[in-house]
Amino acid sequence: MKQETEGRRVVVIGAGFAGLQLIKELKGAGCEITLIDQRNHHLFQPLLYQVATTLLATSDVAWPIRRLFARRKDVTTLLATVTGVDKETRQVLLQDGGRVPYDILVIATGARHAYFGHDEWAEHAPGLKTLEDATTIRRRLLLAFERAEMSRDPAERAAYLTFAVIGAGPTGVELVGIIAELAHRVLPEEFRQIDTRDARILLIEAGPRILGAFSPELSAYAAEALEEKGGVEVLTGKPVTDISAEGIRLGEDFIATRTVIWAAGVQASPAAEWLGAEADRAGRVMVTPELTVPDQPEIFVLGDTAHVECEGQMVPGVAPAAKQQGNYAARVIRARLTGRKLPGPFRFRSMGNLATIGRNAAVIEYGKLRMRGWPAWWAWGIAHIYFLIGTRSRLAVALSWVWSFMTGQNSARLITQGEKPRVR
Ligand SMILES: Cc1cc2nc3c(=O)[nH]c(=O)nc-3n(C[C@H](O)[C@H](O)[C@H](O)COP(=O)(O)OP(=O)(O)OC[C@H]3O[C@@H](n4cnc5c(N)ncnc54)[C@H](O)[C@@H]3O)c2cc1C
Repeated sequence: MKQETEGRRVVVIGAGFAGLQLIKELKGAGCEITLIDQRNHHLFQPLLYQVATTLLATSDVAWPIRRLFARRKDVTTLLATVTGVDKETRQVLLQDGGRVPYDILVIATGARHAYFGHDEWAEHAPGLKTLEDATTIRRRLLLAFERAEMSRDPAERAAYLTFAVIGAGPTGVELVGIIAELAHRVLPEEFRQIDTRDARILLIEAGPRILGAFSPELSAYAAEALEEKGGVEVLTGKPVTDISAEGIRLGEDFIATRTVIWAAGVQASPAAEWLGAEADRAGRVMVTPELTVPDQPEIFVLGDTAHVECEGQMVPGVAPAAKQQGNYAARVIRARLTGRKLPGPFRFRSMGNLATIGRNAAVIEYGKLRMRGWPAWWAWGIAHIYFLIGTRSRLAVALSWVWSFMTGQNSARLITQGEKPRVR
């Protein structure tokens, strides 16, 4: 057995889009694969904002990793946190002191949000990356309405009914779209002391326009749709200068709010530190066109952790890019193991930009094709259902959407776990 697997021990860190795709493509390649993840589930991040805003349940967007590979005898799954790599002895270092040897190492550990040097803001403005982040945001959103209902002080009530999302990329836009739905459509009937439609929902962006990766035309359409139909205030060219338990500061202006969500800035996982490799400003490892670390052809870095250049442009941190990189690295590994010709350098094929704007509106850009409004929303919905894993999730998500669409009710409006008081 040892003889057969010599040189074929592939250790994959991270069961995100890149890691899973790589393992899928290595099926039958005769490798001995060890998949390490600090969580027991793969997460479909593109729909996480719908968990944070009560539309979907956590289990609709996450799957146990162990189950995904139950029938792949060549894959061993380890629930563990990686803290380093010993390149000399070719071992992955685990937080519990364990070591996992590798012949080929694939690092696909993703990214987290970054607070531009203000980590103290994290307590007041959670970002959205994990299921825990989503349930924290869900709890804070729902508690804000509950506390506004209980408050007798108009200023305090107004602060509870003010919701600020910082960063107007697709996630920020999608979040405010559904928060507006909650306030205007889902909740009004249920409260007695407040009118939830009085909620002030702010989308704050430091740049000159929202959805900066889209064309100016679609960006303007999205801003108008949010403001006119959704009742969202869009503030562009307004960098946030402070966040506290009382509210946010935009230069001279202070806005009292108890609910702030961070949807700006990302920082790659610390893989560059583990490897002592060169990184860009966001901590992404600078990789070769073969997606390996320079002078370490046995170490691949993929997805949001890698800085990949393709035709002079940086490949964006999106799910299709991570999957394509997983595919590509698997082809390289297979070619090396069989002695066949290596594929040329990695090339990224863009699958376009997509973002929803609340219920029944979206914007899509794919090459020269531009779509907006409800046709774009349907196309967005179908694409996302297609990319979910398994029939149960597809049915569950489709049912939740149809139910919400028809009844105006969201199925996952649960306040779970206690909210720690924040220092005022
Ligand atoms: C809220 C949100 C919405 C998004 N929406 C879209 C969208 O609509 N369309 C789109 O294309 N992209 C979207 N993205 C981006 C997309 O999800 C990422 O580009 C993609 O997940 C990157 O894949 P990855 O495999 O590099 O990393 P990830 O999918 O993030 O996976 C990384 C894995 O590594 C594990 N890990 C991390 N550190 C360690 C460690 N030290 N030890 C062990 N395991 C570790 C993590 O637990 C995780 O499972 C969104 C991202 C977010 C956060």
